[in-house]
Amino acid sequence: MKYVIVTGGVLSGLGKGISTSSIGVLLKSKGLKVCPVKIDPYLNVDAGTMNPYQHGEVFVLDDGAEVDLDLGNYERFLDVNLTGDHNITTGKVYRAVIEKERRGDYLGKTVQIIPHITDEIKALLREVGEKENADIVLVEVGGTVGDIEGMPFLEAVRQLGQEVGKENILFVHTTLVPVMGAVGEQKTKPTQQSVRELRAAGIQPNVIIARGEHSLEPEIKKKIAFFSDVPVEGVISAPDASTIYDVPLLFDGQGLTEYAMKTLGLRAKSEDMREWKAFLENLKSPKKEVTIALVGKYTHLKDSYISHIEAFHHASAAARVHVKLKWVESVDLEKQGMKLLEDVDGILVPGGFGDRGIEGKIAASRFAAEHDVPFQGVCLGFQLATIGFAREALGLGGANSSEFDPKTPHPVVDLLPEQHAVKGMGATMRLGAHPIQLDPKSSTAKLYAATTIHERHRHRYEINPAYIGKLEDAGLRFVGRSDDGRRMEVLELTGHPYFIASQFHPELRSRPLRPSPIHLGLVRAAAR
Ligand code: GLN
Repeated sequence: MKYVIVTGGVLSGLGKGISTSSIGVLLKSKGLKVCPVKIDPYLNVDAGTMNPYQHGEVFVLDDGAEVDLDLGNYERFLDVNLTGDHNITTGKVYRAVIEKERRGDYLGKTVQIIPHITDEIKALLREVGEKENADIVLVEVGGTVGDIEGMPFLEAVRQLGQEVGKENILFVHTTLVPVMGAVGEQKTKPTQQSVRELRAAGIQPNVIIARGEHSLEPEIKKKIAFFSDVPVEGVISAPDASTIYDVPLLFDGQGLTEYAMKTLGLRAKSEDMREWKAFLENLKSPKKEVTIALVGKYTHLKDSYISHIEAFHHASAAARVHVKLKWVESVDLEKQGMKLLEDVDGILVPGGFGDRGIEGKIAASRFAAEHDVPFQGVCLGFQLATIGFAREALGLGGANSSEFDPKTPHPVVDLLPEQHAVKGMGATMRLGAHPIQLDPKSSTAKLYAATTIHERHRHRYEINPAYIGKLEDAGLRFVGRSDDGRRMEVLELTGHPYFIASQFHPELRSRPLRPSPIHLGLVRAAAR
């Protein structure tokens, strides 16, 4: 088993996750089995308790693990289904070591960061690779080199390098090359300093990936190679790309694949980038354009909705329709009214927590219902579309979710039975992939071309079964259900051109070549 370790320098937000995913795509294209792992040096055990406004979307895997959004990038780029083992946090590592200490596993010893924490980190990396029979474990170390939190992880991968030997590990360091002054000179000093910081941790990089607006000038490549002691073919430009899906080809074009394979002593088992290239071609040759409003409450941080953005890219390529997203803050709808939605071809109300902005989202679903505008609701969006319908079509004034109004006379959305007794907030929701039965006559079954589907969940509340009969009689059909029909999963509005909402999150399983059927359906309906 070989290792590729990606570290980051200078500052965060340089697209280290995309660089890591792209390296994965290139190695996979050579027929190698790649096992991606994200290290997050924070103390949270998982990302589930983190605010999307600070950290971007919480991604959910099939097994219900709540993880960093980079795992979503890995799944989309590599077309794999990962598990919680692929996300290692400081919280997880310390919890495991402290549990072992309490059990007496280290009896008599002083338990220390080196070797006990670092051994645990190495063991976790090795185990996940072995479990999956990987050729390559591809590790992205979150944060920036020099952060106190990241030190034990850098030390662990340094030791790993010693143990497996130079020919079995490739260190990739991502940095920023800013451009200064009127002549637009590319400045290498931040890269120099961050490589020095990496070396101080005992790690000599094999590859430098330099982010910047443009490709590196040949002279600048040489200069970076010279002071970082990396061959010129190991210095790779990562200029701004028109789409993140271009990045693997940008790297490959500079010889990164060959260089990485040579350094690791690997031989290609096969060769295949055809599907990737076909996807890119479709993505870049739309025949039409539509505007879809994304009505959310974290719209200032686009990373909060990254899986929806990507699902629309996938749908866009499949439908050959360019999707322009219009970001609408739901509280602005409350203040300014529906004129913000008048020029759009479709509306998406995504998931969320907390009551800020919910009335705006309900109003958006009613606007779509009454004006025949194609509509998709997801999770909270599904619950709110039901509440809006209950208020308008059934005349149930004050209908709400008990999440937002515990005293509502009509709790159309209520706690899941198993949630009543739950006290802690970490990993206690209904999480992960569950099977859903679709009504064979429904539009949703046609979109999926299936009647049993598996989609991912993350919620505490559900449609209250007491209201189903009345809602269906008035035209809101629950065409997808799970757990022997007890739980409502998909709704469709009778007589509307496209009004589909789901309790699950179809965006989480969307892939470049297998777009989320409901997002694709929305884009096609919007283009009609
Ligand atoms: N807050 C809602 C619930 O807990 C919706 C969750 C979501 O949209 N992910 O059920």
